[in-house]
Order: sequence, then structure tokens, then C-alpha cells
Amino acid sequence: MPKRVLIVEDNELNLRLFCDLLRAHDYETDGVNDSREALARAQVWRPDLLVMDIQMPHVSGLELIEAVRRDTVLRRIPIMAVTAYATPGDEARAREAGADSYVTKPISLMRFIESIAALGKIADGRAGLASA
Ligand code: MN
Repeated sequence: MPKRVLIVEDNELNLRLFCDLLRAHDYETDGVNDSREALARAQVWRPDLLVMDIQMPHVSGLELIEAVRRDTVLRRIPIMAVTAYATPGDEARAREAGADSYVTKPISLMRFIESIAALGKIADGRAGLASA
């Protein structure tokens, strides 16, 4: 079964880029460009992985990651944090909030796909634990 990746990204061009790239690698994708809709979409669509932009209006990526980690249904989903304008400490903050991986823009497409594949393995591991 192809893995489902929900992309939360306020920039429409980046959102389309991520969706196209992942679909070309046989992932199922859905996108949300308003961070206020992300949790509800995830609860309905139940993605295997989340790609989360950090800089977004209304609800930041860090706040959303924390909210996912508090959600009893969604809390095990591996999350990739994506950020532009990286400053020292950003990766530590993202990981502290609960991100499993961290990628800076402009993204290297190969690095992005490799990181997604690695997160897919984490998702499989967590699913195994959950059913054990
Ligand atoms: Mn953004």
C-alpha cells in the first residue's frame, strides 16, 4: 500500500512541488495550505507521514507539531519539519516539539525523498509496536 503523506505548507508553489514530487515516487498525497485546517484533515484522512512547514500564519508548524504529539489518534505519525530562514537552534526546537526529521529550504529533492523514505520506515516500526 502506498504511504499517505499530508503536506502542510502555506506557500502554494511549494505545496504543489512537494505533492508532485511525492506522487512521482508513488506516495499518496494531500495538501493543506491553511494550518488551521491541518489537524482536522489529518484526523479524517489519517496520513502515514506529515510534512510540516514551520513558518506559517495563524498556527505555526511548531505549534502544530506539538498539537499532533498531544493528539491520542495522531501522536505516532512521523513528522518532517521543513523550514526556510534556518537560524541556529531551529532544528533543536523542531525536534523538541516532536519532529522526527528536519529539512531546510531550498530543499535538495534527493535528500527530501530519502528523508521521507526513512520516515516511512519509522511509521512501519511504530505501527508494529502499536499492534504488538
Ligand atoms: Mn511558510
